[in-house]
Amino acid sequence: MDTLHFARFPFVKGAAEYVRSHGVSLQELLTSEAYAPARLRGKQRIFDALNEGEITKCPTAGEQERLVEVLSYPVARMLVSCVGDGFLVRRYALAEAVTMKDRLQQESPEFIVSVADELGVPASIADGIIRTHFSDFLKFTSRMRSKEWKLVNTEVNEGFVFLTKQRFSRVLQQALQEKIEDELPLAVSEDILRVLRPTITDIKSLVETRKQHYKAQDLGKITIVKFPPCMRRLVGIAQAGENMPHTGRFALTAFLHAIGLSQDDILNLFSSSPDFDPSKTRYQIEHITGEISGTEYTPPECSTMRSYGICFEPDALCNSGKMKHPLSYYRIKSMTRRRTPAGTGAAKKDQNA
Ligand code: SF4
Repeated sequence: MDTLHFARFPFVKGAAEYVRSHGVSLQELLTSEAYAPARLRGKQRIFDALNEGEITKCPTAGEQERLVEVLSYPVARMLVSCVGDGFLVRRYALAEAVTMKDRLQQESPEFIVSVADELGVPASIADGIIRTHFSDFLKFTSRMRSKEWKLVNTEVNEGFVFLTKQRFSRVLQQALQEKIEDELPLAVSEDILRVLRPTITDIKSLVETRKQHYKAQDLGKITIVKFPPCMRRLVGIAQAGENMPHTGRFALTAFLHAIGLSQDDILNLFSSSPDFDPSKTRYQIEHITGEISGTEYTPPECSTMRSYGICFEPDALCNSGKMKHPLSYYRIKSMTRRRTPAGTGAAKKDQNA
């Protein structure tokens, strides 16, 4: 790999060696005026992740610009670690992973295979097509629920799955996202916290603003007060017009259907999504609610929601040890509210269950 590749894929081992070869110390990176552009770009990576969902392009024509780009990656990781917020870690990991996937589209299959190796997804090329073992394919596609990712809909030969570079890059997106989520937050010293404090304050403020976007509003006659935190967050994501993982769409649609929301109301909720396609969304809703599939799907259990990464901020009831399903949460809350004596401001009659 050359220095341009290090700038475009700063998580590879070669990029760290490239930094070492320039003799940049942590102290210099954090305090020297010479590395102020790298610190600024590191902060920008995080702002991009929160605002855009991907890392924006930066000039990388010259060697100095490439070094700045490579250095901005460890700076960003340090800043995310200093803030130490799970929401930020997930947003940042996703943005870096999406960016890598998009950039891989412009690379050769050989290069993509070398990146895959770094991410722990062994692959090779046979007749110009990328192939990986089915067990690795399953490991990184288990969260993807659309039909195209089912093993039965994929070409398999002697235990190997054959994928276009677009599809394989999507698998690698998942691998990088999980890797970054596993690695962060790193341990940071008081010294680092002190030096980066003004930037940390700016990032914390943006994180809070972004979280506000995810605060769910009531859905017409359905009040979200009884919703479990996971569903409240998913409603908030939909209402804020943010992209939602397929697993989240499935879980939310099945949940809303189970508590009695109409198909039109569910469709309306997803209409702010940036990739909203009315006919496709209606088809998915009709499928999940059993109208065209003959199967009325229920939302996943809590353990599955956790494995999908969409069990957001479980509260005391979630952690009581009894909680196995988001619908159980809703039912328990509904019963609690029904038992609340009249005159306390609570609903006398549950109109929504
Ligand atoms: S524990 Fe279950 S109900 Fe609570 S937030 Fe997680 S998935 Fe939702």
